Amino acid sequence: MRLFPWLLLHPNIPKPLHGLAPRVILGDSWWREQKEKARRKSDNYCQACGISPRQAKYHQWLETHECYSIYANGKVEFKTCVALCHSCHNFIHDGRMQMMVKSGEFSEEKYFDILDHGNKILSDWWGQNIKVKDKFNGVVHPKFINKANSKNSLLKWEYWEDDDCDWDDYHLILYGQRYESKFEDYRHWLEHYEGL
Ligand SMILES: [Zn+2]
Ligand SMILES: [Zn+2]
Repeated sequence: MRLFPWLLLHPNIPKPLHGLAPRVILGDSWWREQKEKARRKSDNYCQACGISPRQAKYHQWLETHECYSIYANGKVEFKTCVALCHSCHNFIHDGRMQMMVKSGEFSEEKYFDILDHGNKILSDWWGQNIKVKDKFNGVVHPKFINKANSKNSLLKWEYWEDDDCDWDDYHLILYGQRYESKFEDYRHWLEHYEGL
């Protein structure tokens, strides 16, 4: 079984592209096919930590994560899907977890436990104790991103800060097709996701 712990460094999807997941655009039959393919490819183990879902602490099944290359100019390109356990998958989507902790849909204890899970796997990969994501801070340091980039040729992550590009610069590339943000600006995003 080949493991790819660096997958846990997958950056959060930039806010302008929320609501534009390939599974939403391409629909259920595409998504079912991808889930099946990802599970087969991973031999039914989590591709990041290697756990069999039967032994996993939370859900006893594998989840599917859509992987992207992310560029500092706002281009976000869908590349492939991977099978991950619930903890590894949530570690990647810690921005979503943070929102759910704040709204009370997700317990703080579970959130901290999932951060510990991911940080531990990444510490083994890095060769010393590191805290890649901390409580309510999911920004991944560029030195970790750089090592992940050097370990694979499929996904490329350029480091970016929120103000490196304009809201309108962000776009999704999915099988060669370009998709623009569903939200005019950050205010509309907030309105939609946080009811503000
Ligand atoms: Zn895992
Ligand atoms: Zn995901």
